[in-house]
Amino acid sequence: TLADAAVYTDPTGATRALPDPEADARVRADDRGHVFHSWSAQALIDPLPIAAGDGATFWDYSGNAYLDFSSQLVNLNLGHQHPDLVRAIQNQAGRLATIQPAMANDVRGELARRIAEVAGDGFEKVFFTNGGADANENAVRMARLVTGRRKVLSMYRSYHGNTTTAISLTGDPRRWPNEPADGSTAKFFGPYPYRSAFHSSSVEEETQRALEHLEQTIVLEGATTIAAIIIETIVGTNGVLVPPPGYLAGVRELCDRYGIVYIADEVMVGFGRVGEWFAFQAFDVQPDLITFAKGVNSGYVPLGGVVMSDRIASHFDTVSFPGGLTYSGHPLACAAGVATFEVFERDGILERVRDLGSRVVEPRLRDIASRHPSVGDVRGMGLFWALELVKDRETREQLVPFNASGTDAAPIAAVAAACKREGVWPFTHFNRVHVAPPLVITEDELVRGLDVIDRALSAADEYATH
Ligand code: PLP
Repeated sequence: TLADAAVYTDPTGATRALPDPEADARVRADDRGHVFHSWSAQALIDPLPIAAGDGATFWDYSGNAYLDFSSQLVNLNLGHQHPDLVRAIQNQAGRLATIQPAMANDVRGELARRIAEVAGDGFEKVFFTNGGADANENAVRMARLVTGRRKVLSMYRSYHGNTTTAISLTGDPRRWPNEPADGSTAKFFGPYPYRSAFHSSSVEEETQRALEHLEQTIVLEGATTIAAIIIETIVGTNGVLVPPPGYLAGVRELCDRYGIVYIADEVMVGFGRVGEWFAFQAFDVQPDLITFAKGVNSGYVPLGGVVMSDRIASHFDTVSFPGGLTYSGHPLACAAGVATFEVFERDGILERVRDLGSRVVEPRLRDIASRHPSVGDVRGMGLFWALELVKDRETREQLVPFNASGTDAAPIAAVAAACKREGVWPFTHFNRVHVAPPLVITEDELVRGLDVIDRALSAADEYATH
């Protein structure tokens, strides 16, 4: 196998062995010469050329293997080069590579039906997009058209994507340089028991105060001007913030009381990441619109979309929906989506995620937290976790102060470097180390990766005072 022999097949079909310094130099030269990278100062980055991947592992051209503990951008739910997904894409490409959105196609229809089925009662229709940002963009457009209102509320500490409205809804520093974009947006604080904006002393109090604050925001922003509230069911890149019991149900009630559409952004947490088809299903709440992308087909071919409640979908029965994308419901992407459903069902992926999360990850992270003075909080569900690092566990002083650069500060960079030296590719951001491996990771690999994180955290402990 690739893991044993460090051999891979290059795009021309030739078998190559690693290390391959010539290929490494060529990829680096083309990349640094011509690829303009996301979210980066181009002269300050050094992207690692990747030769191949298999399951939870990928290799660089020097033959170094990395366990992918970030699932790329938390999209690679079924791991690298899953044979069922690769085969489905190859078969579809051989049959019919593309077809425009106004026509019907077998895999597009089957995928929409299967998504609506797992979304549950009250959901029948799916609007396909190319990714997560345009899913949110279109969900907001639907809410605006149905309500006849314009304003959309979203949380501080959120990420909703990098198109005009999605970046405006984003409650983190990625929005700042892009302002003003969509001016009809406003922010509120969500619950965050470890760092309460409401000085709460219990989780129950946090829930209640966060809901009172949201209602005040609705009233003061003008309830009759608000089309939608958009919430990541579990906040992802801003901290794996799991909503406390009752919070999302309270949001639902407020939306009903004020005639507001509830959009659940499930781009990162949908499709098994937390052991449910959609994360909201773990919280006993029913949104009006669900946005998805990433895990729907592990990003093998770009795909996202909006699952629409019957109430919203039926608004467009006789009124035209003014929106569309050339690649909406792309057959190659949908074929990979249908294969994803088959793998999830055949291999019991949801059950596996729940089991590994509660039996392996959570106890180990709590054990890590008990031994490392730099670990202040442990949060998560399924295979989606974060360790929040602090300078002082008693005062909860942050390990590094809030910074907007998007670049990890020294203590976190040191943890990330220590992980990479031991063959784990981590997801680190601000004061956090996230654990988000592919859902197909073996138990041995998972334990090995957690061992590495455990050792790597010693680098952060040096900056902690307790
Ligand atoms: N929403 C959430 C919660 C996300 O995490 C992301 C991406 O990380 C997006 C939206 C944007 O998705 P995309 O990058 O596919 O546009």
